Amino acid sequence: KVVKALKTNALTIFTILGVFGGVVLGISLRASREEKWTPREIMYVNFVGELFLRMLKSLILPLIVASLISAIGSLDLGLSGRIGARAVTYYMTTTVCAVVLGIFLVLTIHPGTGDSESIARAGQSYNGTTVDTLMDLIRKMFPPNIVHACIAHYRTVLKPPVIPPAPPINESSLAGAIVTEDGSAIEPTSPPPPNLHDWEISHEYAQGTNIMGLVVFSTVMGMTLGKMGHKGQPLLSFFTCVSQAMMIITGWVIWFSPVGVMFLIAAKILEMDSFGVIVGQLGMYYLTVMIGIFFHGFVVLPIIYVVFTRTLPFKFIGNMAQTLATAFSTASSSATLPVAIAALEEKNGVDPRVARFVMPIGATINMDGTALYEAVAAIFISQVRNVPLSLGSIIAVSITATAASIGAAGIPQAGLVTMVMVLDTVGLPAEDVTLILAGDWLLDRFRTMINVLGDSLGAGLVNHLSKRELEHVPVTVELEK
Ligand code: ASP
Repeated sequence: KVVKALKTNALTIFTILGVFGGVVLGISLRASREEKWTPREIMYVNFVGELFLRMLKSLILPLIVASLISAIGSLDLGLSGRIGARAVTYYMTTTVCAVVLGIFLVLTIHPGTGDSESIARAGQSYNGTTVDTLMDLIRKMFPPNIVHACIAHYRTVLKPPVIPPAPPINESSLAGAIVTEDGSAIEPTSPPPPNLHDWEISHEYAQGTNIMGLVVFSTVMGMTLGKMGHKGQPLLSFFTCVSQAMMIITGWVIWFSPVGVMFLIAAKILEMDSFGVIVGQLGMYYLTVMIGIFFHGFVVLPIIYVVFTRTLPFKFIGNMAQTLATAFSTASSSATLPVAIAALEEKNGVDPRVARFVMPIGATINMDGTALYEAVAAIFISQVRNVPLSLGSIIAVSITATAASIGAAGIPQAGLVTMVMVLDTVGLPAEDVTLILAGDWLLDRFRTMINVLGDSLGAGLVNHLSKRELEHVPVTVELEK
């Protein structure tokens, strides 16, 4: 029995060993010599990991589009509406739970008081207001050109108007100045600071695929093909075939995970600035986020799961171990998506029509770990800056943290970028993000794990709630596992 269990879980075991192996390899390579590893050397160490990541990333686009279209198209409109509504309700509820938990912890622990020496400050440019970011989020949902959406998306950037430099003060420049009785001069007043309305607004290229736009488009396309009946069948069969093919390729790529994760982690350890322990306020902030995300992922979410399914989720979570290890080592929900769908269908018995429907949406909009972290970080920074927080601003933080987590792409440290919006609501400048930069890469890995765990438990729950209805739906296109 033990041998059989080891055999079926061999890949999971090797992947987890790969994570530890990566840590050991990274630490020993680092200790093997005095001088720092150069970026070129790190690139060599990372190479195998980079290939693994590239393979996973190449699956994302066709997988999301084909899976959503085929899964939604194979259901009747009423049922896909109900499944979608269940998933979105779950996603929103759990995100709000995460934000509330984060706010409770950060207000109780109060990590932002005490010595501030552990915090460094650096400057950065201003990226836009809350309104701009929210509007960008909605804009992304409606890509004007679907081919373009596959390649890149744009974000709003505000540029201050150019103010001519003040002339140097010499006698001639004092010509227009007011001279007081004792002969001293009052400098000519400099132009008032520019009003935000005078800033130039441009939509600059921000790298990456517009996954959100593709999710919306594919959902509508799936519903339409399903509604078209036999006329929509050829296209539906085409996308079903693509989806199936992507899952088969995923199965092959997953075999690379043990070595892939090992080299990704080893290279990251070589790249790290120092092993310095983060102490003081920043250390407390880390602790607050970590307590929050682990409590949310391993207590709050399982409780919700038990309440609705009447089954304990331990086996379910155990079956997702390889997926969680991939999330940790890639720091990307999108890159982990193929692995997550495969584990849900093959190990947890989730219906492919549910897994391929709700997971791409979850990986795009449901990020509990990120939401919790956004709320904690914004309140932590206002504590450091001694900005008093009214109940109104705490509510504003919770709303924008939720929106910021929905808007964050499933790529490494995307949460840091959308944080600007949350900071803006409490009147803090975007550059304050730099206060929490140190070590964010590690926090990112843990929050990505919880993001993926949240999506997966959601898929399991929706699958449980929709089981009966799925059994009675005539299957138009067979989705094989
Ligand atoms: N890296 C996270 C993810 O892919 C997003 C973030 O919190 O930065 O889920």
